[in-house]
Amino acid sequence: MNRQQYYSDLFRQLSVPSEEPLRQQYFIDKLRIFMFGLPPKYTIPVDSEELASAKPLVRRTACVSTFGCQMNARDSEKLSGILQEIGYEIIEDEKADFVLYNTCTVRENANMRVYGRLGVLNGYKKKNDQMLIALCGCMMQETQVVEKLKKSYRFVDLIFGTHNLYKFAELLSDRIDSGEMVIDIWKDTTQIVEDLPVDRKYPFKSGVNIMFGCNNFCSYCIVPYVRGRERSRRPMDIIREIENLVADGVVEVMLLGQNVNSYGKNLEEPMTFAQLLQEIEKIEGLERIRFMTSHPKDLSDELIEVMANSKKICRHMHLPLQSGSSRILKLMNRRYDQERYLSLVEKLRKAIPDIAITTDIIVGFPGETEEDFEQTMEVVRKARYDSAFTFIYSKRSGTPAAAMENQVPEEVTKARFDRLLALVQEISREQTARFTGQTVPVLVEDVNDHDASLMTGRMDTNLLVHFPGDASMIGKIVNVRLDECKGFYFLGTQV
Ligand code: SF4
Repeated sequence: MNRQQYYSDLFRQLSVPSEEPLRQQYFIDKLRIFMFGLPPKYTIPVDSEELASAKPLVRRTACVSTFGCQMNARDSEKLSGILQEIGYEIIEDEKADFVLYNTCTVRENANMRVYGRLGVLNGYKKKNDQMLIALCGCMMQETQVVEKLKKSYRFVDLIFGTHNLYKFAELLSDRIDSGEMVIDIWKDTTQIVEDLPVDRKYPFKSGVNIMFGCNNFCSYCIVPYVRGRERSRRPMDIIREIENLVADGVVEVMLLGQNVNSYGKNLEEPMTFAQLLQEIEKIEGLERIRFMTSHPKDLSDELIEVMANSKKICRHMHLPLQSGSSRILKLMNRRYDQERYLSLVEKLRKAIPDIAITTDIIVGFPGETEEDFEQTMEVVRKARYDSAFTFIYSKRSGTPAAAMENQVPEEVTKARFDRLLALVQEISREQTARFTGQTVPVLVEDVNDHDASLMTGRMDTNLLVHFPGDASMIGKIVNVRLDECKGFYFLGTQV
């Protein structure tokens, strides 16, 4: 009896666990055995040498394409990890046997891009009858999107949302067993499933989710409707994950949440974000801690103090402003005004003089007048951002702002956007130049895209630095003298 037969017979005697992650481990093993002829990894004891040397009986490739934010990028590492664990070979090319789009819906054009790409994928599928197409992420949480897919994109095999990402292996197994399109979208969840396989993009740095969802309901934002209510991971699960990452060679972590400042409120033993940072700081071997995103409404003095006294927390705060007009901030339901925001910037700069402050700004929010816009320009002049992500307001159906009157004409918004961008870039160049001549620690990330004799890395302020070096430096933190400021990055010399 061959090994596959042996494991199939044993596996058929098992019942499906109800507990997670055991239940997903069961489906991962099911697909390993029946789809790839690989020995099980979780449900049946297998000799480690046999596991390590096992080769899939069939070659199947998979490609995970990520749209949107760092939260999605981290989710995609988990989805890719599950596919790899099942037996798929992960490739970058969408001409794969399995293509998964992890979608975003924060702006209308994100949806349009996905519909456009699906047509191309269908073309590939017509040439590869083994091909499966799956869609997940924020866009799938919109009912009208799923209805449209069901009606006009019948070639899609699997659709799931943001709340049941961890169920990916089970849903894939359902699709393979039924041969039918599988759709599984949850309205919300309180569940957080730990210990799923991860296929990390970078060996030396990693995103770490500390919480999911958002309770802020900014009036223009669709995230609370697609990512659900806030739920924080337990501190010990976060710390255990980071300890494992450090043991695996990671020196920098990016703590992720829609609003990290409200971390811990739903925990049995509540813990503030600042307290969590102090615990993470204790982890031996971890050299840098980054986090995003911080909502100004609950940026605490405690957090600023912990950042100021820390040896590992990077001197960078991403603090979305969205608008400089207190009138518009009220309509946006942001729960801070211009004065409060500027006082936070002042506090941050007083406590951490060289901190880099970056932000997000929306232009053209419904009802925005020239005077409101001038207020935004005023805050940009006063806050002097190191850089800023500037966006044109995008109407998202289902959000309160979408129903507001006085939608700003496109040409007015475009003109304001150009003026804002010019000001932001002018100040960003001046701000970047303040580091000229300094010698700073740089985490080396990669060989420079344009010049192989140069390495590219990041300061703790998140600024890019290019300097002569070689690939053996990747993942290391080296000291670099910043010789020449090139506007938004530096050329330097390792010292
Ligand atoms: S804080 Fe506001 S903008 Fe950010 S995700 Fe939550 S609702 Fe959206």
